[in-house]
Amino acid sequence: MSRIFNFSAGPCTLPLPAIEEAAAEFVDYQGAGMSLIEMSHRGKHYDEVHMEAMDVVRRLYNLPDNYKVLFLGGGATLQFAMVPMNLMGPGGKCDLTLTGAWSKKAYADAQKIGFVNLAYDGSDEKFMNLPNIADLQVSEDAAYFHMTSNETIGGVQWPEFPDTGDVPLVCDMSSDFVSRRVDISKFGLIYAGAQKNAGPAGAAIVIIREDLLERSRQDLPAYLSYATHAPKDSMYNTPPVFPIYMIGKTLKWLEAQGGLEAAEKMADDRANLIYGAMRDDADFYSCPVNENCRSKMNIVFRLPNEDLEKKFVAEALAEGMSGLKGHRSVGGCRASVYNAMPVAGAQALADFMAAFAKANG
Ligand SMILES: *Cc1c(COP(=O)(O)O)cnc(C)c1O
Repeated sequence: MSRIFNFSAGPCTLPLPAIEEAAAEFVDYQGAGMSLIEMSHRGKHYDEVHMEAMDVVRRLYNLPDNYKVLFLGGGATLQFAMVPMNLMGPGGKCDLTLTGAWSKKAYADAQKIGFVNLAYDGSDEKFMNLPNIADLQVSEDAAYFHMTSNETIGGVQWPEFPDTGDVPLVCDMSSDFVSRRVDISKFGLIYAGAQKNAGPAGAAIVIIREDLLERSRQDLPAYLSYATHAPKDSMYNTPPVFPIYMIGKTLKWLEAQGGLEAAEKMADDRANLIYGAMRDDADFYSCPVNENCRSKMNIVFRLPNEDLEKKFVAEALAEGMSGLKGHRSVGGCRASVYNAMPVAGAQALADFMAAFAKANG
């Protein structure tokens, strides 16, 4: 077996022990004579898997008792709609920071429900910069304040979060979930598609402060209401059992590495290696993102021209490093370095970058 360093943005690399464990028990789960994905979601085996996956999220973030963890279908994209439907409602108002491709989608869906005030609009700077959190204005009458903690395509990450007072802070953390310590008590709601740091595609993880459940209107269709899922621990309907099972394994692996503190340290190490390689060959590599908000999860960079970028991606692949092509909407190169990317993978990429610049510069 040979595994390569996979720099894809999502779905993406997952911890090998989690995949191996799942493979070992996939056909016959703990002597039950069937796979976990063939069992009733109401049975004892699945119930343990489900509750443990929720618990490990709680443990990693040290969640206060007044926060609920939900596992929902529809990815982070469904949350673009559920958040305004549940927390704002028709005729309501919210604040949003427009920082790139993903917050644009959150913006578009929220506008279908109510009025969205842009607390920050990065379009003039082509989404390559972020403001100081101290300069963000929170509207007193906003139902919530929405941020995208890490723009997966643009490679821009908020280094810190504002204090939004009585206005609940809502955050799309899809691409930096469980990658750093955060003060949960600052947030009203956090959501994340699982397939970047937490598991395979097919589920979103939502962390919601309990008092916000009261905002979900009675006339919402059942699945679209947080108030439906929370009291049932996300077992109102058949949950996405396989993603949840893998989320549990992935996050338990992270816990064994040392949890969020270790994740943060590994992210710093990987980012230092790759941004360092750019700085070492600054006449060859360039990062379009302002220095104060460069992502530690999705590292974007340009080479002197597109032909060299193509060559770079192809030669890296031949050396066992895949997924380095930038998103089709922006071009260039992108190295996505989530929790499961070993620091050795970032080192291999940094070494390759140095050699490539030498050979082609
Ligand atoms: C990937 C991603 C999404 C979309 O997630 P889906 O699970 O595909 O719906 C939303 N926001 C961010 C920041 C992302 O990285």
